[in-house]
Amino acid sequence: MKANGKEETRLVVVSNRLPLALRREGEEWRFEAGSGGLVTALGPVLKDRGGLWIGWPGNRDPIDREVLRHILGPVSKASGYRLIPVILEKEHIENYYEGFANASIWPLFHDLQMACLFQPRFWEAYRDVNSRFARIVRRHSRGSDFIWVHDYHLMHLALELKKRNNNRRCAFFLHIPFPSPDIFLKLPWRYEVMEALAAFDFVGFQTLRDRQNFQACLRSFWPSSRVRGRGPVVRISRNEGNIIAGALPISIDFTHFMNLTRSKTARETVKALREAHGTRKILLGVDRLDYTKGIPQRLEAYERALELYDELREKVVFVQIVVPSREGVDAYSRLRDEITQTVSRINGRFATTNWTPLTFFFRSFPADELAGFYRAADIAAVTPLRDGMNLVAKEYCACHADNDGVLILSEFAGAAGQLAPEALLVNPHDIEGLARTLLKAFEMAPQERQSRMRRLRRIIRRRDIFWWVDNFLRAAAGKALRDFPPGDLAPLVPQPLERHLS
Ligand code: UDP
Repeated sequence: MKANGKEETRLVVVSNRLPLALRREGEEWRFEAGSGGLVTALGPVLKDRGGLWIGWPGNRDPIDREVLRHILGPVSKASGYRLIPVILEKEHIENYYEGFANASIWPLFHDLQMACLFQPRFWEAYRDVNSRFARIVRRHSRGSDFIWVHDYHLMHLALELKKRNNNRRCAFFLHIPFPSPDIFLKLPWRYEVMEALAAFDFVGFQTLRDRQNFQACLRSFWPSSRVRGRGPVVRISRNEGNIIAGALPISIDFTHFMNLTRSKTARETVKALREAHGTRKILLGVDRLDYTKGIPQRLEAYERALELYDELREKVVFVQIVVPSREGVDAYSRLRDEITQTVSRINGRFATTNWTPLTFFFRSFPADELAGFYRAADIAAVTPLRDGMNLVAKEYCACHADNDGVLILSEFAGAAGQLAPEALLVNPHDIEGLARTLLKAFEMAPQERQSRMRRLRRIIRRRDIFWWVDNFLRAAAGKALRDFPPGDLAPLVPQPLERHLS
């Protein structure tokens, strides 16, 4: 509270997951700090500003309230923002998270409608969980707070808050793509989802194409809606209420990644890779295990390139890192098997006594080691079938302070909206075209490589993660980050913990 009695605006971040992961090991609970773009982006934003982060701590087994309090209290202190847990039961995890979020919306929004499972029980759980999140947001926030909701798990949150007569300023950012009406309209709950998105004061998307798709979907339900303004942020007027929508591409902490390449681990990784592969060019792929990432297609294109172009044989090595994800889900286990089989087929076909064409890692690496992989790679192939943004593409460039290296990028990655002129753009479904592009990247003259990489790095450096946060807040809250004043750790509201967890 300010001296003049006016309440200060705090930032309340709401996402499906808290920035930590709880795991049970026997009788003990362990936690790991969260990683990934969202944590990197929002950690410094919330830190020491008295803000809150509300989300599921990732536990699948029931957890004792006192244990949870003992874990989250010190983590809140260390992070400089208060973590508020939303506890999910087994049925919620199955139907809301694995069901509606990951089996309905995830494939649909990535244009993979054939992979969608639409079940009424998923939808019911989705609304239940969004309503639970809304109760907790309401309990822990105050009228002057600014609520920033992240991603497709929580599209119903503003509507649920409004149902409770809660008029906090509430903005949403969608980290994944937004599909065109042809695809979106297949969703059985299409009207409800659009109505829910329209309840936010501000809706942010990764690219102009996503925002335009959203506008086109809105027009299917509210044909008289009109878009006013030009540029990344527009106002859409409807009789039922206006919506502000923006296209604001998320990014990375460019300087942090660049500096990581100077770490001991990164330098050792570069050395080890160079020793292992000599003067051969290193082609790198880094993806979470997901059917949207186009990994089988990329492997097939590499195989085709080795078939067609003798000059690549023994002169290139493909290092593919796949990070395990959504373990236990059938589609993901099948994809892992398909990748493993393709890798061994290619190595079996083309390996010689002193050359193995493909090195495959099925694990995750810490950021400093990953920076070493990026730095050592002559070419990065980032070829998702569809992707909200793809941070790997930006991280690869950030790690090339030598201004060398070639980025091959899918035209269906959100990053293509910014990086198109300088990356080698590909259609990941066009195996022959991708094979040709691999050769082109391999043969690119040093001067062209350097001028392209220099411009790529300039684009990414100018619009880094701090630019994104600031611009989102300006567009959605009318404030820059520095306008959210530093504050002490928000106290827990003095209510019994069981009520927070309900
Ligand atoms: N990543 C990592 N370790 C790895 C591989 C990837 O930490 O071994 C990180 C990588 O640095 C990047 C993120 O995983 O920040 C992947 O983000 P991206 O936007 O490319 O794809 P997503 O997984 O979010 O779909």
